Amino acid sequence: MFKRNREVFDSELEIIEIKEPVFKVYYPAIYLSIIKNLNKKFPALEWSFCSTVKTITGTEYILSDKIYIPKQKVSNASVKYEENLDEYNVVVHRHPWKYPSGFSQTDKDCINSNFDVSLLVSDDKITNASVCIKTEFCIFQFAANAELLVHIPEVEVDTSNIKVDVFAYYKCF
Ligand SMILES: [Zn+2]
Repeated sequence: MFKRNREVFDSELEIIEIKEPVFKVYYPAIYLSIIKNLNKKFPALEWSFCSTVKTITGTEYILSDKIYIPKQKVSNASVKYEENLDEYNVVVHRHPWKYPSGFSQTDKDCINSNFDVSLLVSDDKITNASVCIKTEFCIFQFAANAELLVHIPEVEVDTSNIKVDVFAYYKCF
């Protein structure tokens, strides 16, 4: 589904919104710790932090666990960044309301179109994600599914206690 918007914050480019989720965005568990901590300090306010994309494989984005809290002014309904964030391509911001609110039009125009990946926290849960791809002619904003990155450590198991019984196959019966 395409929804066109002609009011683009800092670009002449038209935003084309694709609402069917095509991309998957995996965020590290530290995001949840940071969300919890920021909410404890600013229980009823918006806030934001930035990060970077670590890898992209096909339609799957894996986000870095390196987090930066930008200089920002926050209220119960806004975040204003007070520095240049060009070196970051992931942004997370929170809406302090309990119900999942979705990205606002201002979010789409001002935040989502300026970062490759944008995540929205509704109160204390990551509820929405957007992947932005800019072309010469327009800005595509794809809805995406955000999922916790489960890190499965690779281990070398000592199998010296396991002996293969050559009769194992026959003893099954
Ligand atoms: Zn917002």
